[in-house]
Amino acid sequence: MSGLFGVVSKEESCTPTLFYGTDYHSHLGTEYGGLAVSGDGLRHKIHDISQSQFKSKFFEDIGRMAGRMGIGAISDADEQPLFTRSRFGEFYIVTAGLIENKEALTQELLSRGLSFSEPSKNGINTTEIIAKLITLGDDLIQGIEKMFEKINGSCSLLILSKEGVYAARDRRGYTPLVLGKNDGMWAVTSETCAFTNLGFSPVKFLRPGEIILLNEKEGLVSRTPGLPDNQICTFLWIYTGFPASSYENIGVETVRERCGRALARQDKDIDIDVVSGVPDSGVGHAIGYAMESKRPYRRPLVKYTPGYGRSYTPPSQETRDLVAKMKLIPIRSIIENNRLVVCEDSIVRGTQLKNFAVKKLWDCGAKEVHVRPACPPLMFPCRFCLSTRTTAELAARRAVRALEGRDVEDVAGYCDATTEKYKKMVEWIARDLEVTSLRYLTLHDMVAAVGLPKERLCTYCWTGEHPGAKNPPKEDTQQTKNPVRTDRP
Ligand code: SF4
Repeated sequence: MSGLFGVVSKEESCTPTLFYGTDYHSHLGTEYGGLAVSGDGLRHKIHDISQSQFKSKFFEDIGRMAGRMGIGAISDADEQPLFTRSRFGEFYIVTAGLIENKEALTQELLSRGLSFSEPSKNGINTTEIIAKLITLGDDLIQGIEKMFEKINGSCSLLILSKEGVYAARDRRGYTPLVLGKNDGMWAVTSETCAFTNLGFSPVKFLRPGEIILLNEKEGLVSRTPGLPDNQICTFLWIYTGFPASSYENIGVETVRERCGRALARQDKDIDIDVVSGVPDSGVGHAIGYAMESKRPYRRPLVKYTPGYGRSYTPPSQETRDLVAKMKLIPIRSIIENNRLVVCEDSIVRGTQLKNFAVKKLWDCGAKEVHVRPACPPLMFPCRFCLSTRTTAELAARRAVRALEGRDVEDVAGYCDATTEKYKKMVEWIARDLEVTSLRYLTLHDMVAAVGLPKERLCTYCWTGEHPGAKNPPKEDTQQTKNPVRTDRP
C-alpha cells in the first residue's frame, strides 16, 4: 500500500502543508516516506520509517525544503519520490498501486535498451518502472495514458514538474485520489482525512483514468476527463482506509457502522454481555453492532498506540506478528466471566487473531468468544492494490484444503454463503481459531453497507470475479508476493 499527497500554493511555501498532509497517510505504509518540492529547482528527501515515525524523520528536513509545489508518499514497498530527466523535462513521481506484470514490463524495458538504477529491496522499484513507461510517450499526458494501457493491476500517481503537480487516478479506479482546495492552496490526496485539519474542502473525487494539473497560476487544469466506469476497492471501507476518510463521498466510519449493524442483525440467536472490536479497524464495526444489538460496547482489548502501527502493513511476517502480539493489551475486569462478541475487519491468515486476540481473551477468563468479521471469507489475494499474502496462506483456503484433502481451483461453492460447503468451511475456521462461534458478513450486506452499485465495487478478493482485469487470476500458492525481508537497516 501507499498513500499520496500533493499540494500547490499560490503565495506561501507549501512545505508545512505537504509535511502534515503526507504524514496523514502513515496508516498506509510502514517502510518509506518521501517528499519532493519545487522551489529553487527540484529537491527531495526519502527516509526509511520502519523504525521511527514519518514526523520525526522529516521534522528537520522540512525547514530546508521551501517551495510552492510539492508531492509526498508513504509506502510499504519502494522508495519514492523518484527523479527522472526525460525528453519532456525533469520530474519527480510517486505512485500507489500494484503492478501484476512487473517482471514482464521490466524485461520489455531492458530489451528496449533502458536501464534501472534505483535501489529496491523487492527487485526493481515499481515507481521506476512506471516512470520509464511514461517517458516512452510523446509527452507526459500521453505517457501516462500509454502506461495505463501497459500495466496489469492499478496505478495512481502524482508527478511534480516545472508545470505543476499532475495527478492521475488509476484507470479502473481501484485506488482513490481526491482534489481539495483551501484559501490559498490546491491539494490532492489518497485519503480525505488529510484535508480536514489543514483546512481543505474536497472539490472532487477524480474519475478513473482522469488526469489533472495543479499549478500556481491557473489552479486546476483538467487534462483528461477520465472514464465513467469504476471498480473502487471495497476493502478501503472495510479495513485499509482511515475512519475519518471518505471515498466517492461515502464515509469509512459510516460504512463500518452499517457493517456492524448488519452483523448484529444476523445474530438474533445468541445472547452476549459485551460488544467489542479488535482495535483499530474493528472498532467502527463493533460500534455499529452495539447500536443495533443494544448491548454495551466495551474495550476488552486496548491498543497501546504510541509506537505500534498496523500489524498488516510491515513486509515481514515476523514483524507483523511482533506488532500484533505487543500492541493489544487485555483488560481482565471487562473480559472475565463475560460472553463477548469480537468484531474484526476481516480474517486473512487468522493466526494473529487466534494467538494475539482470542487467546488473550480466553486467558483472561472469557466465558464465550464470538468472532464477527465485517466481510465475507477472503478467498483470493488482491491483484490490484494491496500486497496481500499468497492464496495458500488465507484461512479460508486452508480450510478448503483441509476439507477437500487437496488444493482445489474452483472454490465457487465455498464463496456462496448459502451452501453446505461454505458452512463447513466456516465451521473449520471457527475450530481452528478456537472460538465459540464465527459468522462472517455476507457479500450482499457488505455491498449494501457501502451503498454503491455492486458493479462499481471491486470484490475480487471475496468472489474471484474481476470484470476490469486484463488476465485471469493466477493461482499463487507457492510464492509470497511480499517476501520476508531480512535486510532492513
Ligand atoms: S481485490 Fe480486494 S483488496 Fe484488492 S482492490 Fe479488490 S477489493 Fe480491494
